[in-house]
Amino acid sequence: MADRERTSHGPPETTTPLSPGDEAAPGTAGVGENVCPDCRGTGRLESRPCPTCGGTGVVEEGIGGA
Ligand SMILES: [Zn+2]
Repeated sequence: MADRERTSHGPPETTTPLSPGDEAAPGTAGVGENVCPDCRGTGRLESRPCPTCGGTGVVEEGIGGA
């Protein structure tokens, strides 16, 4: 339980699907929801679902920088 600072994209610990804009899986320590910078939280880009957040309007981003 010591080394959790993995920088590579390993297999997810949960089955929660990640959106392309997510930096980490929901529930990960030091990660929180943030308004999607591409669709500004609407979940849509023009008439299409936002590909960055997967249409949710939010992305999981790291808190406190890396
Ligand atoms: Zn979005």
